[in-house]
Amino acid sequence: MSFAELGLSDKVQQAVEASGYTEPTPIQAQAIPHVLARRDVLGIAQTGTGKTAAFTLPMLTLLETGRARARMPRTLILEPTRELAAQVQDNFDKYGINHRLSVALLIGGVSFGDQDAKITRGVDVLIATPGRLLDHFERGKLLLSGVELLVIDEADRMLDMGFIPDIERIVKLVPFTRQTLFFSATMPPEIQRLADAFLHNPVKVEVARAASTAATITQRLVATGSEDYEKRETLRGLIRGATDLKNAIVFCNRKRDVAVLHRSLQKHGFAAAALHGDMDQHARMAALDSFRTGEMPILVASDVAARGLDIPAVSHVFNYDIPHHAEDYVHRIGRTGRAGRTGYSFTLVGPGDEKSLTAIEKLIGQPIEWEGPSLAEMPSSGERPSRRRVRNEERSTRGRKGGRRSQSEGREERRPERQEEAAPQSRQEQSRQEQPRQEQAPRAPRPERENRPARSPQGRSRHDHDNDAPVVGLGDHVPAFLLRPTPIKKAK
Ligand code: ADP
Ligand code: MG
Repeated sequence: MSFAELGLSDKVQQAVEASGYTEPTPIQAQAIPHVLARRDVLGIAQTGTGKTAAFTLPMLTLLETGRARARMPRTLILEPTRELAAQVQDNFDKYGINHRLSVALLIGGVSFGDQDAKITRGVDVLIATPGRLLDHFERGKLLLSGVELLVIDEADRMLDMGFIPDIERIVKLVPFTRQTLFFSATMPPEIQRLADAFLHNPVKVEVARAASTAATITQRLVATGSEDYEKRETLRGLIRGATDLKNAIVFCNRKRDVAVLHRSLQKHGFAAAALHGDMDQHARMAALDSFRTGEMPILVASDVAARGLDIPAVSHVFNYDIPHHAEDYVHRIGRTGRAGRTGYSFTLVGPGDEKSLTAIEKLIGQPIEWEGPSLAEMPSSGERPSRRRVRNEERSTRGRKGGRRSQSEGREERRPERQEEAAPQSRQEQSRQEQPRQEQAPRAPRPERENRPARSPQGRSRHDHDNDAPVVGLGDHVPAFLLRPTPIKKAK
């Protein structure tokens, strides 16, 4: 199957050729002819299968006839995150190089003024996140009554992010006679309900079972303790011992943990970037860029932040936390093993994670192998430190968020780590030869102090949350209330 057989215009075909794609992916091959025939399409295919071009290429062809009117976009694409919206825009820039189309992006974190001006002039393609689109609409500067084609992309993620009410509102604002394209990696019942409501007599294009994972991915489970410092140590061992690690995404369930783990990895000499929902647009783009260019080969991310990001050829996925929703597992490991390449995924499993694991194995329809001892084979630990330590960490992290740490301090810490990271290959090989699997045994208490870049005594926080040795009693942390002078009531 070639792109020439799909009915795309010459302009689009030339741009596709120039971009280096030689063959359409299955979802593209199946969806594009139907989009061109103006049918509604329900496209279900896992992450990384090329769904974006499945709608951008035929849209470009369709948009060659007709022209935009002021304040009335001709087509509307809804994306759950700003990054995904920006990626779709990149797609239009790349494949629309032979067209003269006006493409506007309506996402948070960008000023209303520029976006307003563009819309007022008239746009062919409007790419938006649901909330921002409604903000614009409510300001009265935007009319949706000219939308001929509506794309709802990453529908399952829209559901996870609570955007469904917004989308239902938006769908009521666009003409009933529009063409609708609806894409999702998975099809939970709520998404099916929406598809039934929004699509008219759709063609259903389904590439693989919604819950399947690519066969090119080697999936492994790694038993670990449930304390954060134990998990971080297990993760470091995995990264150091990984085979053919080129770049990796490390997933956390909570955005707060993204920040903590990111700092910890940096302190341990890994060149890592972070991506979570609390970062502003500029910081997110900068993090992504540093990861794409390879400057930062490790990206610590939350599900929402990383959803559907176009990062080609990720060699490894590490699930620092086992995902609560089994479908997230499919999405996460879909970041690797793309386009037939081999990939690896390692999922940390601690006490208490058994239920989530069972759900994942049920969803993907196969058991996942353990790397090293299984959780059941792990020695149960009586000497595990108390929860207090974890709480101390949280407290100190919160303190730092408040900006106690100066900018220059952060920069100083970073520098030696990049140098260390400069020869990742040799270091991995080394550790592989020395201790291929033992290295990953999660339980051995291993003080990692020697790996830490030197810091000035002032730079060293009393509440340093990254000293991973178990702490006895209060450790070096004394809660502030204990340091306050005790008020002694005077007797009257
Ligand atoms: P999805 O939305 O299904 O998760 P994307 O549209 O983001 O996937 O595409 C995933 C990756 O595959 C991107 O890096 C994209 O450039 C690449 N890709 C898409 N179509 C093709 C193709 N026909 N040939 C080769 N690579 C492709
Ligand atoms: Mg996508």
